[in-house]
Amino acid sequence: MSSRPVLVYADAKGNIFDFPELEMAGSSAGRWHRVSPRDWIPLPEGSELFLLPERLPVGYHSRSKTFRVLSHDPYESAKPVQAVAAFAAPAHTQTYCAAYQKLPGAKLLPLFAYTAVGWQRDRFVVAARRVDPDERQDFRHFDLARIDKNARRRMAQQSTNRLMQHLGKCALTYGCPAARNLFLDRWEAPLPTSPDCNARCLGCISRQDHPGLCATQDRITFVPTAEEIVAIAGPHLQNAPGALVSFGQGCEGEPLLQAKTLQQAIVLMRETTRRGTINLNTNASLPRAVEKLRRAGLDSMRVSLNSCQPQFYGAYYRPRGYTFDDVMQSVRIMKASAGFVSLNYFVLPGFTDDLEEWNSLRRLIDATGIDLIQLRNLNIDPEWYLSSLDFRPHGKPIGISRLIEKLRTEFPRVRLGYFNPPLNSAEH
Ligand code: SF4
Repeated sequence: MSSRPVLVYADAKGNIFDFPELEMAGSSAGRWHRVSPRDWIPLPEGSELFLLPERLPVGYHSRSKTFRVLSHDPYESAKPVQAVAAFAAPAHTQTYCAAYQKLPGAKLLPLFAYTAVGWQRDRFVVAARRVDPDERQDFRHFDLARIDKNARRRMAQQSTNRLMQHLGKCALTYGCPAARNLFLDRWEAPLPTSPDCNARCLGCISRQDHPGLCATQDRITFVPTAEEIVAIAGPHLQNAPGALVSFGQGCEGEPLLQAKTLQQAIVLMRETTRRGTINLNTNASLPRAVEKLRRAGLDSMRVSLNSCQPQFYGAYYRPRGYTFDDVMQSVRIMKASAGFVSLNYFVLPGFTDDLEEWNSLRRLIDATGIDLIQLRNLNIDPEWYLSSLDFRPHGKPIGISRLIEKLRTEFPRVRLGYFNPPLNSAEH
């Protein structure tokens, strides 16, 4: 019996079974792969398992060295089956997507990442790697009762602060890890501000125009005042361990569209304390606005990118009134003033490790001097994404595990991770 993980599949009711006849397989831009030992880990706590309706599981048959599609339940041949995928916990980057064969007319998959999962020695394993040792979003650190008590108390204490009410809902209803940490007075706290955006990302989780998809988060409907923002951010920067506050959250549009408010808020924060890190998660579309925020006291900026190739960036972000060059100009402005810049680099096996994409990433790192690459899983139906970008592979993909190793050896100065780092060492 192979020591490799075996295939898992689900029946029509969603019960999940293992099938030792076939090994777990992975997919990379639609091509099936045998998964090697360095590509899987035990499924981390806080991960979820998803059923993939209208998609048949695919496994690897080691004796015949072929991939096999499981078209029906191997134990009850009349019964239909469906594929299974994992949604890996934060801090983990997928190395392979789930391997499956889509049935004709299958509906789009919702906006999540679908990572290959298998069964080995009585536990689930996932094709992923931990890329950040930081435990700020590890499920076991969330004391839900304390979060509930603190959130309700602070919402009551600041009942007229609309942002506090919004963040209370984020923590209590959506379980947003950053909002939970705010109410545990530690680490990174979120500061959403913008109902609007100047992009129309295919995979936007807060506003969707595709009829077959729904946004997984309600977008904020108001622009908080600088006073509402600093009433939350000030005490957090002053007191929290690893204090960091971040504009630009999943529940909003583009924060740079509220640059005037952000500038006022940053000035007020720095009048309150020099402690902690003020960060901006952004599509970096407005270089002039970035310049003003940097001058006001912004410490770091995280730029979200699905690709370092302008044609694929444009096809995904569908930018309104800005270009890929504007994004790069914003990065240069931050670096020219010694600001800290991260990439929020969406990882999709077969696309991110395509040779052309890898060479584009190398050029971007050389040209900009970025400090950190956050390797985050792209939350989207992989087949729809690749066809929307009209992507054609350039030969055999490098492999995500190998890409991570190449980044480490070729760019030792560039940090790899998953989270925004606290920069202000004085406070620790
Ligand atoms: S930049 Fe953010 S808010 Fe704007 S469309 Fe893209 S994902 Fe949505």
